[in-house]
Amino acid sequence: MTPKTCSYGCVYCQVGRTIKKSIKRETFSQPEVIFEKVEEHLKRLDKENYPDYLTFVSNGEPTLDINLGKSIMLLKQFGLPVAVITNASLLFNESVREDLFQADWVSLKMDAGDNDTWQEVNRPVHGLDFEKLTESKNLFASEFKGILCTETMLVDGVNDFSDNFINVAQQVKNLNPVKAYLSIPTRPPAGFSVKAPDPEKLNQAWQIFSNMN
Ligand code: SF4
Repeated sequence: MTPKTCSYGCVYCQVGRTIKKSIKRETFSQPEVIFEKVEEHLKRLDKENYPDYLTFVSNGEPTLDINLGKSIMLLKQFGLPVAVITNASLLFNESVREDLFQADWVSLKMDAGDNDTWQEVNRPVHGLDFEKLTESKNLFASEFKGILCTETMLVDGVNDFSDNFINVAQQVKNLNPVKAYLSIPTRPPAGFSVKAPDPEKLNQAWQIFSNMN
């Protein structure tokens, strides 16, 4: 397996520390190999265990794989919807948006409502810009025809304050997703000490998101 490659180094990342921080798309996989492996696996499954979705969750950020669009198209031959969970940082790149348009379900990461909080929680690679990120998410959401969701990871003492809840909820609202998930770190990430916000903060976040959307 290639070392974890991502445009972010999130404090809660369960894949571990980012070995290679990058926004350069590269060949990380061969679509035909992914197709064959999935085909072999699906053949072994009985009806009860057959998946609802085929989901891309890579060792880092899946949109860094230059072959993502081709892989999605191949997997769609199985007749199952294809999902991609992305940190959304490469959406400024038209080829990334085009690849994701092939998917049936896309989840965008939405942890921070301002640049300082973004730097703290997602620790982006140098060169990314928060305003551009927000604009490109809006652009993608306005053009994507599939099911759009967002996911917001809440971390104690990092992004669990009311201004951030309000700012993120507003930005999520602008995207008009089918669902906006709030999540908390449950498994210990490698190398960092993070924990979930206390129940009062979680309740506050839920109230703000519910009232905004
Ligand atoms: S974007 Fe995902 S893979 Fe990358 S550091 Fe954050 S949690 Fe880990």
